[in-house]
Amino acid sequence: MTDPQTDPAPERCALCIVGGGVAGLNALFSASVHLGKRDRVVLIERNPRVGGMWTETYDYVRLHQPHPMFTAGNIPWTLGREPAHLASKPEVLHHLQHCLEVLRERVDLVELYGHRYTEHEERTGPGGSEVVVRYADASGAPRELRAARLIKSFGYRIEQNDPLPVSSERVHSVAPHEAAFLGAPLAESDTPVYVVGGGKTGMDTVYDLARRQPGREVHLLAGAGTIFTNRDRAFPSGARRYWSGRTGFRTFREFALQYNGDNEQEATDWYRRTHGLCLNDRCQQFMFGVLSEHENAAISKALTGLHMEYFADVEDDGDATRLRFRSGGSLAIPPGSWIVNTSGHIMKQRRPYEPYLSDGGAVLSIQPTSAVHFLTTVASYFLTHLFMLGSIETLPLYELNQQDLLLKNKRAWSPACSTQALYNTMLIAGNVPTEVLRDFGLNFDLWFPAYRRLYDFAVLKRNAAAYGAHCRATLDRVGERYEIESGVLRRHATGAASAA
Ligand SMILES: Cc1cc2nc3c(=O)[nH]c(=O)nc-3n(C[C@H](O)[C@H](O)[C@H](O)COP(=O)(O)OP(=O)(O)OC[C@H]3O[C@@H](n4cnc5c(N)ncnc54)[C@H](O)[C@@H]3O)c2cc1C
Repeated sequence: MTDPQTDPAPERCALCIVGGGVAGLNALFSASVHLGKRDRVVLIERNPRVGGMWTETYDYVRLHQPHPMFTAGNIPWTLGREPAHLASKPEVLHHLQHCLEVLRERVDLVELYGHRYTEHEERTGPGGSEVVVRYADASGAPRELRAARLIKSFGYRIEQNDPLPVSSERVHSVAPHEAAFLGAPLAESDTPVYVVGGGKTGMDTVYDLARRQPGREVHLLAGAGTIFTNRDRAFPSGARRYWSGRTGFRTFREFALQYNGDNEQEATDWYRRTHGLCLNDRCQQFMFGVLSEHENAAISKALTGLHMEYFADVEDDGDATRLRFRSGGSLAIPPGSWIVNTSGHIMKQRRPYEPYLSDGGAVLSIQPTSAVHFLTTVASYFLTHLFMLGSIETLPLYELNQQDLLLKNKRAWSPACSTQALYNTMLIAGNVPTEVLRDFGLNFDLWFPAYRRLYDFAVLKRNAAAYGAHCRATLDRVGERYEIESGVLRRHATGAASAA
């Protein structure tokens, strides 16, 4: 390992990866299969360590899925817990550090922490393409290096929540990661807690409050309400995995086939009835979160009030303090109440579109304006293999501007993402070497015995043409209806792409 404090900054490398989150580590894993011990790879990360959003998010977060399938490539966990264990933040960070240590042995890795990528320039000459990567070092000084290839792995640019601005001077407005919420100030008070946001963070927050302070008055402002995948069905425990539950492939295949690009309400209602779990029948938004029946019941029990409302403000009105909703309604709340902001923290800022593969072919970009899969881990694992193999140039994957779709119609997001995931997974599965599929340790369906996965594969093979036609028609309709990128990359459409 190179020490950036004492060693000179590298000038050239075979590959530069920006972003040391789990997607960046998957890029490093896949690239290491195609590179050797002498090939220099430079990892640029603005934080002081790998782990990405897991280094910054609230302390009581836990993985949604069984931990073995949250990794880089197929690197096994060393935790020694049962597979169903939902790993905590320190456990996830420990594992991602372990993945880095394993990967350090496979290439000549230079790790530049506290360094911030600023821009790049792709140059194409007679000898091929080269990328000039510009970044600021730990002191802020500008630097550059030349890379044969660049992978930008920024993911969804998840940011910590700030406390909500409130007009009232009588309430505590806090964010989930703040010491006042996690420590003595909250614990030593007995005023009600109002959790704003009904997604995964809101659920984690109510669940954690019920554990820390049983009997505390807790209210949830759930907005349109979130639908979660029922973990007991997605990951049945013990021997039940031999016959019960639904494989992830089957779930997303069925969801994709429900959707035609116009009927997101109908498709989401179907998902809620067949695979979903939520606090009440009015919940409308599915964002791929996962919850168990036990957690859902514990959260319901812990809640004094469930309000299907959006937060607007808290105002002092004479002696009264009122929590105002966006709908115009309000609620009188006691002075000293706690307002916890757990509302959405992905894609807060609209970013300019960037294709997942640059026109020159030397830059891969894993982010939501030109996504190929809603899981950045999966996208990073497969795209890096295709990138290093050279087949990314010709494989006509469907990109989807998931950022703009989410802004234009939040409800269409998950059925469209499932459709895209089914389509691109089919295309990739038919175009990568078997070892790439074998080492795909992120596959949720590894939870199930091999015969169930083989059955899914047979269904896919038998219906590939019909599924492909359905997915393309649906995604074309989404692109047309919302005027967003949804189709093959422009470079593929005009270039040498072979038909799917
Ligand atoms: C609260 C919460 C809970 C979640 N729980 C789960 C879960 O249980 N299971 C699951 O699969 N997913 C979960 N997710 C989704 C989660 O985003 C992914 O699991 C995953 O961690 C994303 O990894 P990433 O590498 O794509 O992005 P990140 O982890 O955000 O990594 C991106 C990295 O890029 C770096 N970076 C950005 N800009 C620059 C720059 N200019 N220069 C240098 N470095 C830069 C960042 O510092 C960061 O380290 C959760 C998300 C949230 C918000």
